[in-house]
Amino acid sequence: MITVKQFYFNELRECCYVLSDESGECVIIDPGISSQKEQERLAQYISQNSLKPVKLLCTHGHFDHVMGNRFVTDTYSIPTYIHPADKDVMKMTSSTCGLFGIKVENPSSDTMDIADGDIITFGNSSLQVISTPGHTWGSVLFYSKDEKICITGDTIFAGSCGRTDLPEGDSKAMCESLVGKIARQIPHDVKLYPGHGPETTMLEELAHNPYLRRDTWLRFDIDY
Ligand SMILES: [Zn+2]
Repeated sequence: MITVKQFYFNELRECCYVLSDESGECVIIDPGISSQKEQERLAQYISQNSLKPVKLLCTHGHFDHVMGNRFVTDTYSIPTYIHPADKDVMKMTSSTCGLFGIKVENPSSDTMDIADGDIITFGNSSLQVISTPGHTWGSVLFYSKDEKICITGDTIFAGSCGRTDLPEGDSKAMCESLVGKIARQIPHDVKLYPGHGPETTMLEELAHNPYLRRDTWLRFDIDY
């Protein structure tokens, strides 16, 4: 059984998740760590629970999600998994953080590619990669059908969705991902863990999130 631990990191209150199971192995997802204090919070949780990190997973390459990658890979010597379409945006981490007065080294560019349908394993558990371009071209979800959990990054939030007005965003792709993929493929009883804000469920989002409905996008002249 997978245990989900959520941390809020950096000024944008980005959600980092540690997923572990009974084997003691864990994956670290989106470590947007911006200070030594936040480094200590993550490290403490891992040591206090005797966890063994085996993989660093990225839902996408935006700076607020990857600014702690270097700390995680240096500390635990584990490989980073990211969709290749987001490698370029990840290279802007150091310069973008500089605009916020945060000094961090760029994440290592030595990464493993992930693609739609890939299975990522740790301990006795596995996560399916679902490609959901829109917020960025390389945005992905990490989904466990058995455990009914899904780490969604900035593709879907409780009641909302990630912005598409940044250079690497695309509204039509977002519509396809949300309406064509997520609303159709993720069952009602799945718990969603977004990249910002509180956790939610598919049932809740199908009832209240306008961006999962085709008519919302049609109003913006966007269809799929
Ligand atoms: Zn983002």
